[in-house]
Amino acid sequence: MRTTLALTGAQHAALCAHLFPGDGREAVALMLCGRAVSPGRTKFVVNRIVPIPHHACERTDRRVTWPTAYLEPLLAEAAKRGMAVAKVHSHPGGDLRFSEVDDAADADLFGGVHAWVDDGQPHLSAVMVPDGTMIARAHGEDGTHAPLDHVGVVGDDLRFHRPPVHAAQAVPEFARRHAQAFGRATFEAMRHLRVGVVGCSGTGGPVVDQIARLGVGEIVLVDPDLVEDKNLNRIVNTTLADVGRPKVEVLAAFVERLGLGARVEAFPCDLSRPDALRAVSTCDVVFGCMDGVEGRDLLNRLATFYVLAYLDIGVMLDADGEGGIDQICGSVHYLQPGRSSLRGRGLYTDGMLEAESLRRQDPAAYEDRLARGYIRGVPQERPAVGAVNGLFSSLAVVELLLRLHPSRLDPNGDFAVQTLSLTAGFWQFAPEEGTDDALARYLGRGDMRPFLNRPHLDMLMRAA
Ligand SMILES: [Zn+2]
Repeated sequence: MRTTLALTGAQHAALCAHLFPGDGREAVALMLCGRAVSPGRTKFVVNRIVPIPHHACERTDRRVTWPTAYLEPLLAEAAKRGMAVAKVHSHPGGDLRFSEVDDAADADLFGGVHAWVDDGQPHLSAVMVPDGTMIARAHGEDGTHAPLDHVGVVGDDLRFHRPPVHAAQAVPEFARRHAQAFGRATFEAMRHLRVGVVGCSGTGGPVVDQIARLGVGEIVLVDPDLVEDKNLNRIVNTTLADVGRPKVEVLAAFVERLGLGARVEAFPCDLSRPDALRAVSTCDVVFGCMDGVEGRDLLNRLATFYVLAYLDIGVMLDADGEGGIDQICGSVHYLQPGRSSLRGRGLYTDGMLEAESLRRQDPAAYEDRLARGYIRGVPQERPAVGAVNGLFSSLAVVELLLRLHPSRLDPNGDFAVQTLSLTAGFWQFAPEEGTDDALARYLGRGDMRPFLNRPHLDMLMRAA
């Protein structure tokens, strides 16, 4: 069983500020956490932080005691909404482990939590040290506890804190050259990442190839299509013999053959199918490699509910079909939960979403409205060139590396969007700015009914 916790960069910064006020004494906060579950995987995601005021606690450099009056409203909310509670406290001396004092305090606390919430589900305890590193453990109903595999911080930078018992293993030979460039810690992080790739065609194919060679531990592939002759110009690692097989199956078989240890889960379906949504919800990072805007909108929503780092790749190749090229350009977006969204950044409009949804659900009505000029058409059968797709896929994978191992002269926050035009000859960057408030209210909500607060997805869940 893989169990993880994820929070945003802003939540992590708020915790640091509260837990280390500068007086060298311990402090404590509570958190309300959403849950995500897929087979063999459980992920907790931070929805809200409740700092316990310093003046209300008894604080020394070795322990902190606090009034449980702050816990009761949170327990009621957790029970009502099917969420978990977490306690996080600081060790100002830098000791990155649970002490005997912690063991005794947690046994007492979580005995009470389980009696109160009575849902049979685990709740969490965490420790933070002054450099911001966190460890966490899950407390079961039976009084046992188990360490979490990592605590992920999804902000401008990406950090995955692993407990010190997981001592670094030797870097295998295949990874020596990229570990030399991006550091041993980046290789270690890759090894334990669960990465989703939604869309496994022209841009998704090269992403899968590259992350598998970087040593990513788990890869989740989602794409409903079969390999066709027309795809062979751009999906890496597919051959004529693969025509007619699901794209995800061909890429999964390739990763298996590569033999570098990645575990693959393949979903030959739309992202909206329940098992695919659940598998992606327990990921750490997801690449969006889709043509349309409906899937992107859904993935941006999923990434917010489940605190995923989301890298979106878009390629635009405008040509007249006779060899005349109007433009070749593309973009890579890095999206962090609780901040701006693809829609907010103007990548698509509600009208485009509606047109695509109508075309899928009622093609006749779509054609009719299109003919009358009520809607703008959904682009189809765009030209595509493997070398161009591969360029943008590489930019996105490098973006992941630069977030894991910040190496730019300026902060990563300045590079939320990169747009590159091969025809106009520019490479531009835009910073992370503002918040999509409509989406941010679901930050770290995790599993709920209806799923993603979208009733039609709940119908699919029930049918599955
Ligand atoms: Zn402690």
